[in-house]
Amino acid sequence: MSKPATARFGPGSTIGILGGGQLGRMTALAAAQMGYHCHVYCPEAKAPGAEVSGAATVAAYDDEAALAAFAEAVDLVTFEFENIPSSAAAFLAARRPLRPSLAVLETCQDRLKEKSFCRSIGVATAPFAAVTSQADLETALAEIGRPAVLKTNRMGYDGKGQVMIGGADDPAEAWRALCGDPATPPDGGAILEGFVDFRLELSVIVARGPAGELDCFPAVENRHKNHILDVTLAPAAIAPETAAAADAVARKIATGIDLEGILAVELFLDREERLLVNELAPRPHNSGHWTIDACPTSQFEQFLRAIAGLPLGASERHSDATMKNLLGDEIEAWPGILREPNAKLHLYGKSEARPGRKMGHVTRLYPKGSGAKD
Ligand code: AMP
Repeated sequence: MSKPATARFGPGSTIGILGGGQLGRMTALAAAQMGYHCHVYCPEAKAPGAEVSGAATVAAYDDEAALAAFAEAVDLVTFEFENIPSSAAAFLAARRPLRPSLAVLETCQDRLKEKSFCRSIGVATAPFAAVTSQADLETALAEIGRPAVLKTNRMGYDGKGQVMIGGADDPAEAWRALCGDPATPPDGGAILEGFVDFRLELSVIVARGPAGELDCFPAVENRHKNHILDVTLAPAAIAPETAAAADAVARKIATGIDLEGILAVELFLDREERLLVNELAPRPHNSGHWTIDACPTSQFEQFLRAIAGLPLGASERHSDATMKNLLGDEIEAWPGILREPNAKLHLYGKSEARPGRKMGHVTRLYPKGSGAKD
């Protein structure tokens, strides 16, 4: 029988994690420190998360027998990335508490739902319109203007499923580039967004417990290379009013969506100092890795506290920090990093260093208030 939605899960409970990547790995490491057991469910063998968890199920997300056995084996279910099929999440939610909820997952799996939700609670985004055909795209371009970005609603990450449309670009070409076959729109449709000439990209990680208590890590600046996060500067070097506004946006979203867990709000800061939401990720986030080494409670521990119904932890940082992802063969820098006195190295145990693959990260710590260095 499933437990009531407000149940508290103390140490000793088993947390089921859908997804086996590095976010699950760092969650499981934090969970072990707090006396929890983790059981990872993912389709890949030897996943980074499974390697450090007490139990793992290697099965497809549509394997109902495996999902049912997994539900039996755990007390609470969560996920470490949002592109798991919502049918698997729904199957589990009928058997065990799922935190964050199915509704949160489904909103954040879909760019159109995500941006419509933000609009519905009065949180600003870039202008956007739904697109399901080339004709829609032409109408939306006339409305939104150029440059614009055409994106699949679902399954996009790290710049995948996106086409930039500049002043001279042919919409038919853009539509073909997104769909392959112009007569077949991407599964789940597409969205056209106005291109934001941003000054900075920021993110805020907000935690919310089942009783509605909230906590935020400070806004950080994220710098990307080839659409993949390269460096996070914590905190972002922004005006205090902007930092406070980013914090307020994150709290408003977490409350509005009725979050139980943790959520990263990715924001653009435009040249008029306006904040526009780009994306929501209802799970630990790459831009929060610095919190492991620079805050008394990391994003992973805060996530566990929030989903387990424990009090949220102190998150005030004791150091400023720069987090650098080690992508592909950048991992080869590890021997030098180990000799740096202010650097903490984190590797994910992946055997193959494909270009752009997140192999690990390094967090460099600086005295609080001195500023993150790039
Ligand atoms: P996303 O997958 O939506 O997070 O987009 C990946 C990256 O593409 C973002 O971090 C931005 O650098 C860039 N990008 C996405 N959407 C826009 C936009 N509407 N305007 C400007 N840049 C964008």
